[in-house]
Amino acid sequence: MSEEEKDAMFSEEDVNLKIEKESDSEDDRDDEYEDVCFICRRPESKTGKMFRLPNHICVCNDCMHKTMDTVSQFDYQGLLNNPGMMGPVKAKKQDSDDGEEKTQDKLKEKFPNISFVNLADLQGDGGIPNRQKVKKKKSEVPPISIKDIPAPHKIKAQLDEYVIGQEKAKKIISVAVYNHYKRVATGTMDEIEIEKSNMLMIGPTGCGKTYLVKTLAKLLDVPLAIADATSLTEAGYIGDDIESVVSKLLAAADNDVERAERGIIFIDEIDKIAKKKNTTSRDVSGESVQQGLLRLLEGAEVEVPVGANSKNAMVPLTTVNTRNILFICGGAFPDLEEIIKQRLNKQTSIGYNADLKDKYDKDKNVLSKVIVDDIKKFGMIPEFIGRLPIIYTLEGLTKEMLVSILKEPKNAILKQYQKLLELDEVKLEFEDEALEAIAEKALAKETGARALRSIIEEFMLDIMYEIPKDDDIGRVIITKAYIEGKGGPIIDIRNNSISLDDYGKMKSITGASQ
Ligand code: ADP
Repeated sequence: MSEEEKDAMFSEEDVNLKIEKESDSEDDRDDEYEDVCFICRRPESKTGKMFRLPNHICVCNDCMHKTMDTVSQFDYQGLLNNPGMMGPVKAKKQDSDDGEEKTQDKLKEKFPNISFVNLADLQGDGGIPNRQKVKKKKSEVPPISIKDIPAPHKIKAQLDEYVIGQEKAKKIISVAVYNHYKRVATGTMDEIEIEKSNMLMIGPTGCGKTYLVKTLAKLLDVPLAIADATSLTEAGYIGDDIESVVSKLLAAADNDVERAERGIIFIDEIDKIAKKKNTTSRDVSGESVQQGLLRLLEGAEVEVPVGANSKNAMVPLTTVNTRNILFICGGAFPDLEEIIKQRLNKQTSIGYNADLKDKYDKDKNVLSKVIVDDIKKFGMIPEFIGRLPIIYTLEGLTKEMLVSILKEPKNAILKQYQKLLELDEVKLEFEDEALEAIAEKALAKETGARALRSIIEEFMLDIMYEIPKDDDIGRVIITKAYIEGKGGPIIDIRNNSISLDDYGKMKSITGASQ
């Protein structure tokens, strides 16, 4: 055999091998997926063996029987005994498409609200969707080992790097999360089942509720879904149905059911689903949502659509068990302070040791004195509160805390701007008074730390615009006067300090900024 012939043979073998490998891997991939019933969308692992029809359509046993039952109840007599009907049917068999059309028309006349599907019409492009498959459940996921769960002090130390203040909340959340994952790890090992540590977080807007949960999920490396309670409504009404929170979590876990089952669901604005007072209509977005959430909080098997927010005919479903999902609910509960004050004032004004009637009116920490009764009075139903055993409050942010938020966290806003300018080899500095002035402005907006970024962005715009124009600039110092609109920042042109105003004048004189 000549060299050339050998070469040719090798390459042919190679090709064959490659083809085999490719088809292997396709088979492997196919193994990971299973068929879904065309009617009820359940996968084969749930329904049992399915009937396979042409065009990759699979129908489960249940649906097939239901269909048969329905068909057998159908009034065939009326259809079959009607000579007007039978004529064309016979004609169709004998001759042409023409006859078939007539049959369909006659059927439509007889049953105006029923459309008759001809499977043959679905052949080819368009008609039938491609096979829909969901990922098979993997047999066993490695269980969480207790040794892998960081101790509460370690969780808190990591939270400290990002979240300023809120010491008590951080401590409670660290212990609760530690216990929760211990519960997940032990499972049903013994008969003493540890109660679920679902939480209710109460705190004014912008004080770090969402941020705390986000940071927690990141450092624990678990999927997190953030949902807004205001968008939830009882199933069947406009809005997201309650189980959509679980599909969000599934999406956050890349459709990996096992990972999702150990995730965290944060439901924000929970105070907005308080029972509506004095309402005569059905409370579909308030009390009913609380009722609907009960079974999720407790732990239930929920059928959720894969890769979509709502169940519909074309989306496959999978089952997620919420037993080990940690639910954290958060809300500002705006009128709760009044309810607490009323209760406290009532208590202190009764009896011998009656106190000043308005003793608590000016108490800033009144929210931290919340008890379950207050929350019930606010409009949360007892069963709902009962499923959130850990209740704690977050403090409103003070000026000092806002200043710390600006500069201390690992990814503090100031650090971000400093890094941006550093890339232009410019040093960015802030006078302490300037930071205080920013904090004061933010306090006035009453949106907590959320206002900080927008304030900073506003005055950093000019600086970010001007600085790259000139390579001579070595340092920028943000002053209080600049924040208050009474002056400019100090610009340091490689050893010469001038203010931005002067700098602007100088540039306009020399025309250098053009
Ligand atoms: P809410 O309490 O309304 O959920 P967020 O958690 O969304 O408020 O806070 C808004 C932003 O403010 C966060 O993204 C975070 O950057 C910042 N922030 C709020 N509170 C703190 C805090 N205690 N420490 C650090 N940053 C905070």
